[in-house]
Formats: sequence, C-alpha cells, structure tokens
Amino acid sequence: MLIDSYHREVNYLRISVTERCNFRCNYCMPEKPFSWVPKENLLTFEELFAFVKVAIDEGVNKIRITGGEPLLREGLDRFIAMITSYKSDIDLAMTTNGFLLSGVAGKLKAAGLKRLNVSVDSLDAATAQKIAQKDVLAHVLAGIDAALAVGIKVKINMVPMVGLNAHEIMPIMEYARARGMTVRYIEYMQNTHADPTIRGLKSDELLAIIGSHTALIDEGFDASSPSHYYRTADGYRFGIIEPYKDDFCTKCNRIRLTAEGFLIPCLYFDEAMSIKESITRGDIAGATAVLREVVRTKPEKNRWSVESDELSTRAFYETGG
Ligand code: SAM
Ligand code: SF4
Repeated sequence: MLIDSYHREVNYLRISVTERCNFRCNYCMPEKPFSWVPKENLLTFEELFAFVKVAIDEGVNKIRITGGEPLLREGLDRFIAMITSYKSDIDLAMTTNGFLLSGVAGKLKAAGLKRLNVSVDSLDAATAQKIAQKDVLAHVLAGIDAALAVGIKVKINMVPMVGLNAHEIMPIMEYARARGMTVRYIEYMQNTHADPTIRGLKSDELLAIIGSHTALIDEGFDASSPSHYYRTADGYRFGIIEPYKDDFCTKCNRIRLTAEGFLIPCLYFDEAMSIKESITRGDIAGATAVLREVVRTKPEKNRWSVESDELSTRAFYETGG
C-alpha cells in the first residue's frame, strides 16, 4: 500500500501516453508547443507496462490513460489489453477528446476498456470550434455514440468559461442525461500555457446557475473520484471538480506518469522524478524506490486555492490533467 506523508492512500495512477494533441483548446494548449518531445524519447508500451506492474504490485488499483490526446498513440488497445490481462479487475478508464473515437471504440472495448471520459465543452459547432480551434463537434458526438453503442460507459467533462460556453451548462447536462451519461463540470485551472483571457466559472457560480433550474441535493464525494457530486430534484447525478476549494486535496489519491517517464506527485507543481532509467534497465527495485519516494514527497495541497499572482507552469497536455 502506498501512503503519503499526510496519511493519504495513493492508489490511482494517471498515465499520459503522449503530450501531442489534434486540438488546440484555449484552456490547455492554445498554441503548438515550441517543440514536441521526440518520439524516441517516449516510453514504449512495454516500458509503460513494466511500470504499471510495479504500481499495481505496490497497491494501485485505478488507472486512467490520458494525454495530450491518447488516441493519437497507435496501438493503444494493445496497451489496454496488457493492463487488463495483468489485473482483470483493475478500474481502467481513459480520457479523450473523442475526435478519433468512432473508428476505435470497438477495439478499445474488446481490449477491456470499460469507462471513458470525453471532453465536450459545447454542443454548438461554432463555439466548439472556437474553444478547440478546429471543427470538432460532429466527430466528437459520433465518437460518443460509437462508444455507447459498444457498451463503454461514458462520462462527459466540461470546462465552463465566462462568455464562451457558460450558457451551455444546462444543455450539456440534458445531452448527457438523455444518453445515461454523468456530466462533470471542471473548474478552469489557471496555468501559464492557457489563453490568459479565460475566466472560468467557480463551483459556487455553477451551482447558482444549475440551482436556478432545479433544487439540488449535495451528495458529497465518492471515495475514488475527485468530483463533488450533486443530485437534481428529479434524480440526475452530476459532479463538479473544485480544485480552488481549500479542502480539494485532502483526499487526493493520485500520481501522474508522463509519456517520457516522469512521475509527478501533484498536478500543480513542477516537481517530478524519472522512472525511465530504472525501467529501461529492468531494475524493478529501482522503479519501486522512485515510486515510493514520489508518494512520500506528495505535497499537502495545490496552490489554486491560494490568492496570489503566481501561476502553475505545469502543462495539462503533458500531465494529462
Ligand atoms: N485530450 C484529452 C481530453 O481533452 O479529454 C485528455 C487530456 S486533457 C489534458 C484531460 C482533461 O483536462 C480534459 O477533460 C480537459 O478538459 C481538462 N483540462 C485541460 N486543461 C484544463 C484547465 N486549464 N483547467 C481545467 N481542466 C483542464
Ligand atoms: Fe488536447 Fe485535451 Fe488539451 Fe484539448 S484539453 S488541447 S483535447 S489535451
């Protein structure tokens, strides 16, 4: 079991399989980075899997594949199959922008993927294009339909932003509800890579908008998810991810692995340690030691909840959000 210095059990590993992306979302990667990590610097699926086995053996029981855009990495179903064949009851999910999903949903399901989160910031083609800087909506919606059709459970992620998509908070809830999907509204997290003009809606503002349409029941937190859950008067359950709340980190159970092999204890800070050398040497004891050290040094909390001019310099497309 992995326990950090604040007595939190760390059992959730998020793996960014590529930093590259086919979208340029304003809150994440509005411009192509100066350079991509060369492909030869990325860990292979075999190397990533070698670390996954270490993490599972140390107590990780929940894994999320993310990016950049994970579906840009060819043969991802092979990686999923490796993980599910090592531990068939692993809680394995993926976060994707959905653009390439319709072509691969069947393969992902066959490899053992049960759950997907798909980012949908707007149901209006022009607004979706403005946010992603590409005409994406039709492909994304087709991808969601394809995933549902093959029996993958889908959640929707939305980042509500003032003057852009805030008026779509209820329509996106209705869209998700009609298809049996949960929506999770994510507070926009400021960082130096994002468009500096964005103003995201905070949890209280979201609740005021939703609360003007329906009574709300506060259902609190699930043990395994960062979402704060609420239920509408007619029984629909949705979540809000609230990194700006002072207590957001008290139950944090996550660490993150980048495609280059950096293990990151917190989404906000730059600190990281590489597992690449030990994994490429086949040094399992070395990789285990790095994992334990990263867990030991996990900070108590992020700094989004602190009023300051300082901005996180971590790129979401590298860490996987
Ligand atoms: N490309 C995939 C996608 O967009 O779903 C996976 C990677 S993306 C970095 C993972 C999640 O992070 C997405 O749901 C995205 O909306 C969210 N995200 C990215 N930048 C963010 C920011 N600055 N604030 C809040 N959420 C952010
Ligand atoms: Fe790409 Fe996802 Fe970042 Fe958008 S949020 S730019 S889809 S990695």
